[in-house]
Amino acid sequence: MAAPASPFLDPRAAARPQTTMSTGQYLDIASPAPTPPAIVPEPRTESNRFLGVQFECCGVYSRIYMNRARDAYVGHCPRCAQRVQFQIGHGGTDSRFFTVG
Ligand SMILES: [Zn+2]
Repeated sequence: MAAPASPFLDPRAAARPQTTMSTGQYLDIASPAPTPPAIVPEPRTESNRFLGVQFECCGVYSRIYMNRARDAYVGHCPRCAQRVQFQIGHGGTDSRFFTVG
């Protein structure tokens, strides 16, 4: 049975790193920060999702709503079901109320 000759097995040598870490000065700055949850900005269009439309065909007022693609307002006359559609795009009008029919 031979005595250990390696300096790495010297209990005094092995204790040095532990002593260093026990000082509390070891900062683990290499660890990546927690990934924040993805934020999908909700367009501020809550109040812009409908247009007021006066249907001259039947003399009634109604609202039409943005379609799922958000590229047009689509609706129907509440009385005669005439279809109306307003494309959304650059160069369009800022008007929120229209007369159709
Ligand atoms: Zn109508």
